Amino acid sequence: MSEPFDLTAAVSVLDTARSVTVLCHVQPDADTIGSGLALAQVLHRRGVPVRVSFAEPSELPASMRSLPGTQFLVPPGEVPREVDVLVAVDCGSAGRLGSLRDRLDGARVSLVLDHHRSNTRFGDVNVIDEAAESTAGLIARVLDAWGEPIDRAVAHCLYAGLVTDTGSFKWPRPGSHALAERLIATGIDPASITRTLMDTHPFGWLPMLSRVLASAQLDREAADGAGLVYVFVRREDTAGVRSEEVESIIDLVRTTSEAQVAAVFKESRSEPEQWTVSLRSHDCADGTPGVDVAKVATALGGGGHRYAAGYSTGGTPEDLIAGLLRELNAY
Ligand code: MN
Repeated sequence: MSEPFDLTAAVSVLDTARSVTVLCHVQPDADTIGSGLALAQVLHRRGVPVRVSFAEPSELPASMRSLPGTQFLVPPGEVPREVDVLVAVDCGSAGRLGSLRDRLDGARVSLVLDHHRSNTRFGDVNVIDEAAESTAGLIARVLDAWGEPIDRAVAHCLYAGLVTDTGSFKWPRPGSHALAERLIATGIDPASITRTLMDTHPFGWLPMLSRVLASAQLDREAADGAGLVYVFVRREDTAGVRSEEVESIIDLVRTTSEAQVAAVFKESRSEPEQWTVSLRSHDCADGTPGVDVAKVATALGGGGHRYAAGYSTGGTPEDLIAGLLRELNAY
């Protein structure tokens, strides 16, 4: 259910901040980082002390290191217990902050800027635009409401979130292309930004895909006949490749025509049989709404969007698939 949201509430928190700590979600993507760095650059321009952080992993994914504003990133240990304004970007729940979640308690005021429908509204001020394709798109609207111009460096960061969260404009929302046009008009190089973020993999990606995709399974009966395609990505499969390579797998698996739902089970690199699970779904060919994987993921302790969601869990592959099928069939 969509609730109204108030851009001016976000503006007044930001406008009166003495200092700002922006927190991105764990295993950050370009939407959370692009949103965080865009906001940081605007605050810095206004003379407001600002830092950006995320709990894990310990390093920014390599594909995002050329984004402007990375000088504002600090390790999680350098985020004080007590901060003035805390802004969480692209986080559907406090749990997405990982070990930095406890900083919510020490904030004078917390502001949640997000576009996940499953958002739990865990801030003092919550500005959640469920219709936005990306948190970056929401940040652009906040900046407009604030009267803060979007310069080329800020546009670079916002484009990073926009292009990744729309899958290179494969699932745009009304306004996505208009925002892209506006960002491109600042002089950014959209082809280069997209290639760096989404279309560049080391050679090791190819043998990794070969191993993982060879194990793909198709269950046509799952989800009341909607079908499920899935793969398991074991820790030994991903040795030597980056998170970007692992995150790319779902985009191949979900193209399977015989299944409306796709799942990729990714084993933690540090803890055996601990998994993060990516789920995807889509509308039926006749336009009937498809399986709501946000609902499925929420029932399994995670969350997300209607057609792109995820959760974390432990167990053997047999446990995992049984747990998912149970929720899909209960749907
Ligand atoms: Mn996002």
